[in-house]
Amino acid sequence: MTEAFLTQLLDAIPLAAVLIGRGERILASNAQARSLLGSAIVGRHFITAIRHPAVLDAVEGCLRDGNSRRTRHLSSESGRDLTYNVTASRIDLGVGEGVLLCYEDVTSLEQAGQMRRDFVANVSHELRTPLTALLGFIETLRGPARNDPAAQDRFLTIMEREAHRMERLVRDLLSLSRVEAEERVRPKDRVDLGGLATSVARALEPVAQESDVKIEVDLAGVDMKIPGDEDQLRQVMTNLIENGVKYGGPGKTVSVSISRAEVVPALRGPGIEITVADQGPGIELVHLPRLTERFYRVDSHRSREMGGTGLGLAIVKHIVNRHRGRLRIDSEPGAGSRFTISLPLD
Ligand code: ADP
Repeated sequence: MTEAFLTQLLDAIPLAAVLIGRGERILASNAQARSLLGSAIVGRHFITAIRHPAVLDAVEGCLRDGNSRRTRHLSSESGRDLTYNVTASRIDLGVGEGVLLCYEDVTSLEQAGQMRRDFVANVSHELRTPLTALLGFIETLRGPARNDPAAQDRFLTIMEREAHRMERLVRDLLSLSRVEAEERVRPKDRVDLGGLATSVARALEPVAQESDVKIEVDLAGVDMKIPGDEDQLRQVMTNLIENGVKYGGPGKTVSVSISRAEVVPALRGPGIEITVADQGPGIELVHLPRLTERFYRVDSHRSREMGGTGLGLAIVKHIVNRHRGRLRIDSEPGAGSRFTISLPLD
């Protein structure tokens, strides 16, 4: 078996693969293995080429007793942690024994697992706080406040607020899972964005008035129909305008504008741009890339006080993705925030 033949064989394996042969030297490797371990590893003793202690132990064990071994190889590349599942298997090369090492990149699996665990921990934490409050008040109502109608009234008001908080959280979680499930299904209906913006602004008017915020809608007056899912686009506008009202502050204005652009750079073509801008305190640059992560909040206390679940922008991001659009957030402390959504015309 020539080195060229062995290299061809290893190149056909969809994993980084290294063959160790006579004299414990590396007989062949494929391109993925060379990018992982270095370009000039063929011909070298495996100890000088591999270096990673857990993998070295696996190769040595396999050479010693002929049994396959599994281990992990952790490394980092441009600041990103990478995880590989490594197998060392004994091979009969005809002219002696060898070991085939295969590295399977399981980084995305690991990350998905970590995200799932974080998500469950976050949801549990978000539910536990209002639940603990409810249980505490039930106990108080049954005990010390049994004959105190004024206290009962006060506690029931708090209990109602906490129950609403849980209801909003469950509603947003359900929305998120529905939106995620449909993310790959292209919307078919045509939606008039101008009409939708006007209707959302009208629906939010009472909330805005309560917070002493003005909502202004500026439509360019051109045809702004796009293929879309009306309920989901309503949710996008509602979440963004609601945030503008919540974080903008009293006495301020939330401006919604929709216009058509012949070239939207992010879409490489014509599109409709929906902008929701507020005159609030703005957001520091470091937070901007993370705002659409689930449960990410700049100020958790303030968000909870305003009835936020921390899921609004995550829902917006998924809906915009489903519409093959882009979300851009521009903000500066003291200069308000501006959320722009670009949606393709077809
Ligand atoms: P929440 O339910 O907390 O409002 P979102 O996902 O809608 O969750 O927003 C995430 C976080 O982004 C908020 O907690 C807040 O810190 C920040 N944020 C969103 N919109 C604005 C805005 N218009 N002005 C300032 N901060 C904002």
